[in-house]
Amino acid sequence: MGKLPLRARLASTVGGAAGRVSRLSGRGDGSVIGGVVGLRMEPDLLRLLAADRQIVLVTGTNGKTTTTRLITAALGALGLQVASNAFGANMEAGLASALGQARSAPFGVLEVDERYLPAMIGATDPKVVTLLNLSRDQMDRAAEIWLVARRWREALADAPGCQVVANADDPLIAWAASAAKRVTWVAAGQRWHEDSWCCPECGSHLRRDELGWRCGECSFTRPAARWVLDTDSVVDATGRVRELSLALPGRANRANAVVALAVADFFGVDLDQALPRLREVTSVAGRYTQLERDGRRLRLLLAKNPAGWLEAFDVLTPPPSPVLLAVNAQGPDGRDTSWLWDVDYRVLRGRPVLVAGERRLDLAVRLEADEVEFELADGVGDAVAAVPPGALDVIANYTAFQQIRTTLGRAE
Ligand SMILES: [Zn+2]
Repeated sequence: MGKLPLRARLASTVGGAAGRVSRLSGRGDGSVIGGVVGLRMEPDLLRLLAADRQIVLVTGTNGKTTTTRLITAALGALGLQVASNAFGANMEAGLASALGQARSAPFGVLEVDERYLPAMIGATDPKVVTLLNLSRDQMDRAAEIWLVARRWREALADAPGCQVVANADDPLIAWAASAAKRVTWVAAGQRWHEDSWCCPECGSHLRRDELGWRCGECSFTRPAARWVLDTDSVVDATGRVRELSLALPGRANRANAVVALAVADFFGVDLDQALPRLREVTSVAGRYTQLERDGRRLRLLLAKNPAGWLEAFDVLTPPPSPVLLAVNAQGPDGRDTSWLWDVDYRVLRGRPVLVAGERRLDLAVRLEADEVEFELADGVGDAVAAVPPGALDVIANYTAFQQIRTTLGRAE
């Protein structure tokens, strides 16, 4: 690593100290406050901390935190230190804090909020940018994600030295990534189509078949992908097939793993060494955590937006295993719960469904409309008492998830 100028060194040191104070006082995990303090002293801190490192930026509506973790795990095969904002503090301060805490790490794998990607590309000069998917978050309108994709395009067109690893199955992602000079296309799949009916290039209707998608009017079509998720296997760029066998559940995580392997391959990692490392990842910032309460095996699934709920339904224990759904509407969740109406809940029919969280009545009305039977619960403890011993899957949106983790003792 090159030497930091004095002011940046000070900013990083003071920022690190502020982070430790924040952790010690129990006010947070310290991953943001340190960066905030540091950036106030040296606005150029992130650029200085990122210089001379191999930076990977990871963004998308869903799967950022998990993919960041998987890439970090895969790069571990090189035997070098990797700096990462593992707990999802994904704006400038979180990135600066992650790099500041691992000053000698030659790699930085950083999750980035979708809206901040262009600025973070400018600040960190990344070797790789990973684009996962783009759909409405709870607070967005459809037009906003188109605007996000347009800004990504402009930023990537301005970063010719950067390798983009992108999901070819998501039309908006493909559109954004196609402005980049070098792209590794991954066939990672797309379950959620509701935000990509239209061609980003000309606005016409997109057609879909087994081969993917294409515009009916213009030449915009799904790029050919060299990395493919095929059921439980990854097909690499040379055509070699390997079984994934992850501990993390669900198709979405298998897609994240294929993306992680494509990034690792770019840095010369031997995939036979990377794969066992991906299999060792069992939970990510509390997600997919399994824990035992009074003979019930709880599994915690975070789902923040319609596409995320679809993915969570995908990994549920088969019926008649019960599920607890918890919804809040605090700031980070979005105050408006109308997005609940974008999710199809009918797959939950035929199993016991419990409903909790501050906005459980909103969810109850929605389930009524889909003719899904449910019971109201006062919280996770109440739900545990209401179901028989065995599995209990829990799907919760952001603050509901954090509350449940706190109630259960923040087990990893
Ligand atoms: Zn078109």
